[in-house]
Amino acid sequence: MPRGYVAVYCGSRVGASPAFRAAAAELGAALARENWGLVYGGGKIGLMGVIADAVLANGGTAWGIMPQFLVDKEQAHRGLSRLDIVTTMHERKAQMIAAADHFVALPGGVGTLEEVYEALSWRHLDLIKGTVSLLNVDGFYDGAAELFARILADGFLPAAEKDILHVVRETEELLALWQRHSSE
Ligand code: AMP
Repeated sequence: MPRGYVAVYCGSRVGASPAFRAAAAELGAALARENWGLVYGGGKIGLMGVIADAVLANGGTAWGIMPQFLVDKEQAHRGLSRLDIVTTMHERKAQMIAAADHFVALPGGVGTLEEVYEALSWRHLDLIKGTVSLLNVDGFYDGAAELFARILADGFLPAAEKDILHVVRETEELLALWQRHSSE
């Protein structure tokens, strides 16, 4: 049994930089090593496939949640520890949020952004307690970090909430963050 689950949002493509794929593989291996289960979109393609394969190759638990209409399009991963097929995108997101103790986005496209910002807004509303992080591989999330700072500076989020988003560079920072959070 994993000690808990981490929701990882990431691209259904691998992206232009080889660093993205490497970061997904490293995070997957780290999750397995540290006994965190992965809960993710359930696909076999893109960074989604890379992280799931890395978790499984290292003996970890990978749980996918996918709406029926994406099963063919995003090629549902058939080797997962668990694959739940749901009806809508909203159900997918709700189930991932309910299952996860922490939330992290690797580089990805509009779907990745939509999902991680939903988790962030739920954190803001205090509907979830887990940490929300962006793994800033190759500066991919520099713009998001800048926008978040602007939201704070312009008074759209109270200063007391400056830590609801963690922008980190290394997998190790995520592990330390989750560890700190569990011992609080
Ligand atoms: P992308 O970052 O666009 O490659 O998408 C990454 C993942 O997010 C894919 O599994 C998409 O199916 C998923 N996704 C995209 N839009 C949504 C949405 N509105 N709700 C839930 N998942 C989504």
